Formats: sequence, structure tokens, C-alpha cells
Amino acid sequence: PPLYKQRYEFVKDLVRKYKPKKVADLGCADCTLLWMLKFCNCIEVLAGLDICAAVMKEKMHRLTPLPADYLEPSERSLTVTLLQGSVAHKDPCMLGFDLVTCIELIEHLQESELEKFPEVVFGFMAPSMVVISTPNSEFNTLLPGVTVFRHPDHKFEWDRAQFQSWAQDTAKRYDYSVEFTGVGNPPAGMEDVGFCTQIGVFVKKYSQTREPVQCEKPTEAAYKTVFKAVY
Ligand code: SAM
Repeated sequence: PPLYKQRYEFVKDLVRKYKPKKVADLGCADCTLLWMLKFCNCIEVLAGLDICAAVMKEKMHRLTPLPADYLEPSERSLTVTLLQGSVAHKDPCMLGFDLVTCIELIEHLQESELEKFPEVVFGFMAPSMVVISTPNSEFNTLLPGVTVFRHPDHKFEWDRAQFQSWAQDTAKRYDYSVEFTGVGNPPAGMEDVGFCTQIGVFVKKYSQTREPVQCEKPTEAAYKTVFKAVY
């Protein structure tokens, strides 16, 4: 399967395993992952955030309940919300989530946004689990035609050491553990380059000994709701 599908399947597998009730996808773009996750019965709240309202609206109709959803209402309730805003800003509507996914998002962030990102996601939103995927630049030599970055909008592409050191620093600071994996296997004989997409899975620790990182909890909204459906 294409790489983007492997990334979405990776998230779906995590959802099947950990059964989060509230899932937020940051940098959700055309909402394909959200659309896939709406079929996971454990989920009761799904939220998508993107800085670009137009891209979210492209295929947003897929998130609208179908007649069958009303004719045969299911036991679970499901609320799907799409929000326009930046991961550099805190909004109280993002509190209380079990899983936050950031698939191919961080490499699109400006330096100033990337600096704020850990505090917003890990410090403020502070979900039980965070999944971050990003290109592994060590794989680029195997991709035909890639000279600098895989996509012109990428602000950076990290090798495994760079991503892992950023992730470990972030995990330590906000009291999470992190494990690394990926999708997109290298061809036989080239295993040294690692996965095409590198993934960090962060899990919040529940230690009593450490003070939580001090963090202001704003009550004012920073995001704009562009879509809401209640199933
Ligand atoms: N997660 C999707 C996927 O895997 O197919 C889309 C990834 S797309 C490569 C990156 C997305 O991040 C774009 O839709 C872009 O608009 C969004 N984005 C960029 N900067 C952002 C920011 N500061 N806050 C929220 N979203 C942002």
C-alpha cells in the first residue's frame, strides 16, 4: 500500500489496541485519517485541526452522518469537529484528549511554531498518548529525484538521530516515555537507512514524584469551528 495509507493504518492499529475515546488529529489536511477513524467504535469524540480551512473543507462532506446513521443509530455517540487554527496556539477545546496524532505535520512548521509545539501539545493538551510522524531524511537517497527535501513546503527533514534527540528531550521535559518505529520498509540490502517515515509514540507517565510542568491554562478560544457533526 502507498506510504500515506501505511501511516493511517499505523494509527488505526494503535486505536484498536488502546481504544482511546477522544482523538485529535493535528494538521488533519483533507480529513482522510479522521474519516477512517470514524469507523472505530471506541471513539466518541474526533477533532481535526488545520491552519488551512480550505483543505479541511475539500472532502469534509465525508464526515457528515449518512441517512443510515439516523435510521439505525448506534449505541455510541460520536461528535466530529473540525477546527481552523495553529498548533502554536492553545485552545481549551483541545483539553481532555486520550490520543493526539501529528502525521507529517512537524516538518511543515516554521521555526517559531516548532518551538511552541511541545508546550502546546505535551504541556497544555497533555493527552495520554501522542503519535508524531515525519520523513526520515536518511531514506532520501533511495527516492528518485529528491535533491533537498521531499516536498517544497518542508521546512526541514530530520535523520533518525535528530528526530530521536528532539523527541527524547520533549518526552523528558513533559514526563512522557517515547518509543520509535516507522513505516515504509527499505529495500533488501539497504536496511541501514531505516524506515521511509519515522514515527515516535509518546506515552504519558503517571509519576507521583514529579511536579507537572507549569503551564497556563487559557480559557479563551483560539481556534475557529468550521464543521461539527453529532452522530
Ligand atoms: N496529516 C495529514 C496527512 O498525513 O495526510 C496531512 C499532512 S500535510 C503534509 C501537513 C498539514 O499541516 C497541512 O494540511 C497544513 O495546512 C498543516 N499545517 C501546517 N502548519 C500548521 C500549523 N501551524 N497548525 C496546524 N496545521 C498546520
